[in-house]
Amino acid sequence: MARRRSSEKPPQDALEAGPPADPRRQLPAVDRLAAELLTQDARLGWSAAVAARSAIEEARAAISTGEPAPPAGALLRAAASKARALVAGRPRRVINATGIVIHTNLGRAPLSEAALEAAARASRYSDLEFDLPSGRRGDRLAGVAEKLQLLSGAEAAFAVNNNAAALMLAVNTLAAGREVVVSRGELVEIGGSFRIPEILAAAGVRLVEVGTTNRTHREDYARAIGPETGLLLKVHRSNFEQRGFVTEVALGELVEIGRKASLPVLEDTGTGFLLDWRDRGWPEESFIPGRLRLGADVVCFSGDKLLGGPQAGLLLGREETIRAMRRNPLARALRLDKLTLAVLDWTLGVLLAGRGEQEIPVLRLLSEAPEAVRSRADRIAAGLEAVHEGVEVRVEASEALVGGGSLPELRIPSWAVVLPKTPFGVDALTERLRHAAVPVVARVDRGAMWLDARTVEDAEVEPLTSAVLAALKAAGP
Ligand SMILES: *Cc1c(COP(=O)(O)O)cnc(C)c1O
Repeated sequence: MARRRSSEKPPQDALEAGPPADPRRQLPAVDRLAAELLTQDARLGWSAAVAARSAIEEARAAISTGEPAPPAGALLRAAASKARALVAGRPRRVINATGIVIHTNLGRAPLSEAALEAAARASRYSDLEFDLPSGRRGDRLAGVAEKLQLLSGAEAAFAVNNNAAALMLAVNTLAAGREVVVSRGELVEIGGSFRIPEILAAAGVRLVEVGTTNRTHREDYARAIGPETGLLLKVHRSNFEQRGFVTEVALGELVEIGRKASLPVLEDTGTGFLLDWRDRGWPEESFIPGRLRLGADVVCFSGDKLLGGPQAGLLLGREETIRAMRRNPLARALRLDKLTLAVLDWTLGVLLAGRGEQEIPVLRLLSEAPEAVRSRADRIAAGLEAVHEGVEVRVEASEALVGGGSLPELRIPSWAVVLPKTPFGVDALTERLRHAAVPVVARVDRGAMWLDARTVEDAEVEPLTSAVLAALKAAGP
């Protein structure tokens, strides 16, 4: 900054204002901001004071890094949005317009009203661990285990909190303190916090890696087996595929190696389904009855991927192996709660009744005819006809994904409403949609916003179009 010569007079307004004011002084008091929030919306209740304090603290922190004080309106909007999020509770309902059916960040498998009615029944006093005919203590998992056996042909079944828990329980039961042999091509990470080597360490076993990233042969397993080996483990890669110069040992071969060495074989299938939809392109390696027929001693998979049920980890396999798992003290720490159990039981019942496609949302979404998806996309586009100039709305063919870190190659033909051109950025539009009354999560692809109709329910067409119209209007010219 140029120094003022002493002879020069300072400008008049600077004289009156004195030294530059601390911008933090421009921030309102917490009470005043909270009162303003409540005048705007009395339903914010307790959250107003909490949100006001947090918004002001954030503004102070920003000021201390050299930013100016936010305008009063911006501060109020920030506080209001925080307060609304607090009272709305989480998880909040959102509209999934991404076209990713089992979206990990959006709660994986959506559940039906009927499934929740089963949970509601179980929420009262129930026969959870009571055998009504005999009046004695009962087995909380008996119903689910029987249905799983009927659906899969397994000798026995067990269920815990999620598939990570199922894998831990199986590995710990079969090989605690001993070695578990896994191919280097299968030491995967799934969804950030799930990594095979770390899960095995936490389960109290020693990992023995065999083969290389791209190639593992029978001899690699055979060589690694020794007196300390307790288990051969196969893991489905789930979220990526290997192509090119690759070899892996198929489950059937691994079972042969295990038999010869008298070692159990466990497969973590991750994504598993019990209906035979292989002729629709659903992959062989996720069809659980097929895996059991190949001779795996135990197979584990998630309840909320392609099964379409609640978060759970399902274990199917030999009677004595499953019995050992039930007796493991870890099983008590990983056990399913009654609400989940009720939803799981309902889901399996629907599969047994042959009504999965009609009643299980994931299966319905994946199997809906492309023409029906297109007609929903057309209705969404028609609802957007009122948009102002400068916005183009098209209906285009799209590809939906199964998602959920499962079956990365399985794509389903779909239709989407595409907004390739908006008067302001596509990112700004998608951000506004995330702040809608019912938040909408859209996909941005090749500079355009895509609303994939496969993952949108019929009843969501209206709130979705209203949200888009409002977002365009709010930020329009
Ligand atoms: C998804 C997955 C898991 C983790 O299952 P959660 O149900 O999320 O705990 C474990 N292993 C494989 C192979 C998976 O695909």
